[in-house]
Amino acid sequence: MTVMAPIRIAPAAGCSDAPVLRERGQHEVFCGLTGIIWLHRKIQDAFFLVVGSRTCAHLIQSAAGVMIFAEPRFATAIIDERDLAGLADANTELDRVVAQLLQRRPEIKLLFLVGSCPSEVIKLDLARAASRLSAEFAPSVRVLNYSGSGIETTFTQGEDACLASMVPALPQATAKAPMELLVVGALADVVEDQFTRLFQQMGMGSVKFFPPRRANDLPAVGANTRILLAQPFLADTAKALQDRGAVRIPAPFPLGVEGTQAWLQAAARVFGIAEATFDATIAPAKQRALAALARSRLALEGKRIFFFPDSQLEIPLARFLSRELGMTLTEVGTPFLHRQNMAEELAMLPEGTMLSEGQHVENQLDRCRAAKPDIVVCGLGLANPLEVEGMTTKWAIELVFTPIQGFDQAADLAELFTRPLVRRMRLAA
Ligand code: SF4
Repeated sequence: MTVMAPIRIAPAAGCSDAPVLRERGQHEVFCGLTGIIWLHRKIQDAFFLVVGSRTCAHLIQSAAGVMIFAEPRFATAIIDERDLAGLADANTELDRVVAQLLQRRPEIKLLFLVGSCPSEVIKLDLARAASRLSAEFAPSVRVLNYSGSGIETTFTQGEDACLASMVPALPQATAKAPMELLVVGALADVVEDQFTRLFQQMGMGSVKFFPPRRANDLPAVGANTRILLAQPFLADTAKALQDRGAVRIPAPFPLGVEGTQAWLQAAARVFGIAEATFDATIAPAKQRALAALARSRLALEGKRIFFFPDSQLEIPLARFLSRELGMTLTEVGTPFLHRQNMAEELAMLPEGTMLSEGQHVENQLDRCRAAKPDIVVCGLGLANPLEVEGMTTKWAIELVFTPIQGFDQAADLAELFTRPLVRRMRLAA
């Protein structure tokens, strides 16, 4: 096995104070309901009841696929024309649907009522419905609500809204509780297990993950909680946890070798882990990842990439692709730029990177065509038209569905970008 030399971290003036092109116009993104697709797999005894239209039901069904071996843990309570016209009492209907569901599915411990564009249009008060139903079905089922509506949101905000809705339900950690690490953001179980092992090996003590795998394992939160964001799109959740006294550990996100190392190290330092112990703990996984990444670097170095704003993962991905794989960033678009949570990432972006926030899709398409990138990261709605124009695309949503965090996934993440380029080369041959 060839082991690559450690990555050289270029002294980064970075993009901390870089100008950002702010655009407000038509944008092409999925709505927050999409988050249900990965969240329902993560919290194994939760159920997501979308209160929406047939369009919402169709989106979830087609995006999540049909489950053949298990009953799905999501469904849509359809608001029909009678509800929209105010002819039926949508609350009575919702109560009936929930009672029927909970009777048929006693394994459900946490029920999310998920708002949509239609439920917002008819001003259905799902917060009140959730507290009414929670009182009725307590203590066996907790009912919470959040909005996955597509009005002015982007798809990863669904997870943020879901997790933020859970924060008030978290138990209060006592003032005397020892300092505890809380990793925030849904990660694939395999990734979570890898991080747990690394934290344990370096002697970090108890580490909790939020969301938990089971609804009754809600982590306690308080002034001794230190939160480490695993996903960059959790601004509301982070704020809600900070309002409960938790303290955020500033760190980049665990994408790529460099990002993963810095993310783990930020936590290790706060918990007083000796540098030598930290280095020895991560060394095997880091060396494996560096060796695996070397292959992708051959395919990606010098290639030009353009990011449309979609998942909010764009800035950490751009940092990884430019610094560890030598790609050139033509434009890095993000739906929202949360400067505080993104500070460490911005500092690591190459100076002069073109950053944009929000979207005016026509203007951005013009910039993309003019830039002639080798690969474009965008939503599904833009991918096909751009492919027809001869561009190579990567669906942003795939980056959210695939386990990409951590050392052992760094090469898989790079592979997600090499594959479309190789496919395009074969088609052109
Ligand atoms: S929530 Fe709104 S954007 Fe999302 S599927 Fe339903 S109607 Fe469409």
